[in-house]
Amino acid sequence: MTSSFSNLSLAEPLARAVAEMGYETMTPIQEQAIPVVLQGKDVMGAAQTGTGKTAAFALPLLQRMMKHENPSTSPARHPVRALVLLPTRELAVQVAEQVKLYAKYTNLRSTVVFGGMDMKPQTLELKQGVEVLVATPGRLLDHIEAKNTVLNQVEYVVLDEADRMLDIGFLPDLQRILSYLPKQRITLLFSATFSPEIKRLASSYLQDPVTIEVARSNATASTVEQHFYAVNADDKRRALHQILKARGLKQAFVFVNSKLGCARLARSLEREGLKTTALHGDKSQDERLKALDAFKKGEVDLLVCTDVAARGLDIKDVPAVFNFDVPFNAEDYVHRIGRTGRAGASGLAVSFAASSDQRLVTDIEKLIKTKIELEPMEFEEDLPRIKEQGRINDGRRMYRDSGAEEPRGAQDAPPRERQERRERRDYAPQRQTVSRDPFFDKPYESSLPTDTQPVWEAAVKSGASRNLSANIKPKKKVAALFKTAS
Ligand code: AMP
Repeated sequence: MTSSFSNLSLAEPLARAVAEMGYETMTPIQEQAIPVVLQGKDVMGAAQTGTGKTAAFALPLLQRMMKHENPSTSPARHPVRALVLLPTRELAVQVAEQVKLYAKYTNLRSTVVFGGMDMKPQTLELKQGVEVLVATPGRLLDHIEAKNTVLNQVEYVVLDEADRMLDIGFLPDLQRILSYLPKQRITLLFSATFSPEIKRLASSYLQDPVTIEVARSNATASTVEQHFYAVNADDKRRALHQILKARGLKQAFVFVNSKLGCARLARSLEREGLKTTALHGDKSQDERLKALDAFKKGEVDLLVCTDVAARGLDIKDVPAVFNFDVPFNAEDYVHRIGRTGRAGASGLAVSFAASSDQRLVTDIEKLIKTKIELEPMEFEEDLPRIKEQGRINDGRRMYRDSGAEEPRGAQDAPPRERQERRERRDYAPQRQTVSRDPFFDKPYESSLPTDTQPVWEAAVKSGASRNLSANIKPKKKVAALFKTAS
């Protein structure tokens, strides 16, 4: 049974804000966590981003803090009572934005502090007094050391995306921050996965926590349609273009494993006429926020990103996530595809796997406890040739792998291609039946206005080179730059 927010008896200002945001029924994590937090218990929550976990902790904490709410302008009347720690600036900004919305009709104040930006404006806000402080660990320590904030009245601590904080190496910072806080407090820990490290962290800092798992940890959202295609590295861009076009996708996230790969791919896709922005750790804070903003506004079609840069970004309605590279860490697969199919919307996750990725795919299979079927990628431009050779028998699909018979004509293929096909067959789990793939039958219905023309259509008509975005310099200029430099 899904319950409504009206059953919660939230204070009127909070209930009003929630209603204004259009929330009606609670998501599973909210249903389970809100009553527990309202009772003042510690929580260890396994929830993916996109499940509504921010409201799951923010609403009950704000509700509990309502007794301290006051209109005074004195900073002393607004001490930090709730501290929310997150691994990245983007996540911190996102959570702080949500907290502000939930608290907008109350006198409870909130702010966010994160690194990579001038400390002064953050200091000014802190000195005015805030009840809810959202922060990344490093910058919070800077403010603590500069005595810009005092944390001796903190009653609530949220360690959000705790697994990621540990991955990034924030454990010593977290330990220091937690040592400044009163022992008597409520601690909530949220993590996408409960690794042994997370369990250790929880046993050190949580007291008799109530464990809440909205889905099996490491589960992928059931609303996400997942596909794995066997694609050589050289063909991945072509495959990306083809799927974008076939599905009429107007926006997508494209994940790669390295910063260098990220920048390179974004440049190549720009040249091919797609409005693309790269999001990786080497980008300045300002550039990252701008990239996100441009994507949210629909000014950018593809956001090419690395895992650290994209973790937990709340961008609604991303119709598709592409794993241009299969992630090295299987858990990142779960995080990546959590960008799509959020809050009940359907999504698409497409991964391109080269034959050398076999081990990584097996790791993902084990983690998500789902058999992965590696599908062959057939390129449209190759279809007439294949058809001519009598290989096609299934609409647009050349053949379905493994369980299907070796396609006719395969014996004529060059030895390398034959070897690759054998590898794909060995690699893919066995299928019993050959069926049409709904992938090609059900085009994605975008939430963008229907008159927006997908850029890849425009690219075809006008020629990709004329479609370069303002972010990319024409080749000539680059060459000229190199000349002057040498
Ligand atoms: P989160 O997992 O907290 O990042 O939330 C993901 C998105 O779901 C955010 O944009 C929230 O505004 C939205 N959301 C959270 N709770 C609900 C709800 N009960 N009903 C509808 N949308 C929600």
